[in-house]
Amino acid sequence: MAIMHHPDVATLMSCSAGSQPEALAAVVSSHLSMCPACAREVGRMSLIGAALFETIAPVEVASTAPIVEARAGEADNPPPPDVRPSGGAIPYPLQKRLGLTSFDDIPWRRLAPGVWDHRLPLTEGATGDLRLLKVAPGVKVPEHGHEGEELTLLLDGSYSDATGIYRTGDVSDLDNTTEHAPVSDPDRGCICLVASEKRARYKGLLARLLQPFTGL
Ligand SMILES: [Zn+2]
Repeated sequence: MAIMHHPDVATLMSCSAGSQPEALAAVVSSHLSMCPACAREVGRMSLIGAALFETIAPVEVASTAPIVEARAGEADNPPPPDVRPSGGAIPYPLQKRLGLTSFDDIPWRRLAPGVWDHRLPLTEGATGDLRLLKVAPGVKVPEHGHEGEELTLLLDGSYSDATGIYRTGDVSDLDNTTEHAPVSDPDRGCICLVASEKRARYKGLLARLLQPFTGL
């Protein structure tokens, strides 16, 4: 099925500039391995970025315009980024990070009835939070807001909220202006890769996620 939800242009730009926090970059690179359209776009942005960088070099300003133009023309056929076909349901960049090729082999930690997670380590000193989240069919996450950027990549199943239905390959790119209350697929549930710019923020989501179960 076609991918309907892509990262924002600003998110793709910081990916192409290499300035993205590690956790967010891990989600974007997995999306790029599943989405040729975004992979092409990031390739194009990288070429334009390289051309702009050249304008900083000590050359006559007047002579830089044709360089940018030529580069922009080349951008129609950018070189393929480091994208390899995914061997299974887990996208290739994530397989590399996990050292696993199947969701069945992930040592899931049970958080609450119907909710499991698996935290992925980041490079020492990196801020943010990266984890896989597995949600049983029909689980509703209470309405919540966001602090900082949060990216969610759907890897299996689906979930829906007021902004639409998210299926395999789709990315939800949320900032602190968004509030939503996602519900997992009633038959299949979902598995997502979730990255948050801020650790504390994600703790907040987990607390809310678990809220419906605290009365049990
Ligand atoms: Zn895309």
